[in-house]
Amino acid sequence: MKARVLSGVQPSGNLHIGNYLGALANWVKIQYNYESIFCIVDLHAITVYQNPAELRAKIRELAALFLAAGIDPKHSRIVVQSMVPAHAELAWLLTCVTPMGWLERMTQFKAKAAAQESVGDGLFQYPVLMAADILLYQAAIVPVGEDQMQHLELTRDIAQRFNSQYGETFTMPETRLPAVGARIMGLDDPTMKMSKSAQGTGHAVALLDAPERIRKTIMRATTDSNPGVDFESMGPGVANLMNIYQALSGWSDEQMRSHFTGMRYGDMKKQVAEITVEKLAPIQKRYHEITAEAGYLDAILQEGAEAVTPTANSTVELVKSRMGLYTRG
Ligand code: ATP
Ligand code: MG
Repeated sequence: MKARVLSGVQPSGNLHIGNYLGALANWVKIQYNYESIFCIVDLHAITVYQNPAELRAKIRELAALFLAAGIDPKHSRIVVQSMVPAHAELAWLLTCVTPMGWLERMTQFKAKAAAQESVGDGLFQYPVLMAADILLYQAAIVPVGEDQMQHLELTRDIAQRFNSQYGETFTMPETRLPAVGARIMGLDDPTMKMSKSAQGTGHAVALLDAPERIRKTIMRATTDSNPGVDFESMGPGVANLMNIYQALSGWSDEQMRSHFTGMRYGDMKKQVAEITVEKLAPIQKRYHEITAEAGYLDAILQEGAEAVTPTANSTVELVKSRMGLYTRG
């Protein structure tokens, strides 16, 4: 039996090249080596307010983008989290074994809470729900961007605590980062990671942005006061653009250095913009084909949820019985 892979994206805004390079592209690459489950984590998205009509549309958009980027629905499962109630059920069971102090240390909670006027309890519980997503399927590998490393560590801590209190139950999941592109920074502010939920037109390149918009965003990206590309003394803005180019091209460090060293920023940005436009074009084309086909997406999402439900339910049953809750004798 192949080991299981699980990962997810929140339908909380426009999917950007950080999500693509940090997560989605990696999923596409490794999907056939594992039994793969990729989730649209809508229960995570509502940890901050989402307009219901927009959320509904974003769930479908994200499913279509998974397919357009190359997730193969004949092999991998695409699952909308809220279609499988076991995610929420396991999250509660794990909430009860998670000390609040562990959650208070989460940097994502601190950053996201600081941006809210009123902080919902869901935002605090977010990492427990994420642990439930992973442990529900006994996933061995979790391919994510660098920002999720802390949540993965917490997932292992929760699994370990459960296993030691109630007996061996959960597989320990391993974090899998891409070699290049694990942390793409904001184009307007290279000290902040690129995020769907960040505001500002110059912040991110979205996967569905038109070529002109992509060019404009990249040409305006923050650089530094050097005259041209210098790999020995690079500001974070230039390093980020080089990182994006390297992740999209698959070039080695040597190729990057010999091609870009000394290049003026205007010329370098043009090349970053062109490779981005070129790599996103086939994804955009497939996206429009997929969304034009009535019923196709719903069938895949239905199939995905049905396929994973027995595994999810049997984990919940096992956890309930380990904890002493009522299970049918
Ligand atoms: P939000 O602002 O709503 O949290 P997000 O851009 O952080 O959105 P998520 O849905 O939280 O996106 O994360 C989806 C996946 O994308 C995760 O695996 C995450 O690690 C990865 N990811 C998110 N941002 C980046 C980034 N800037 N660089 C690389 N990977 C990223
Ligand atoms: Mg995020």
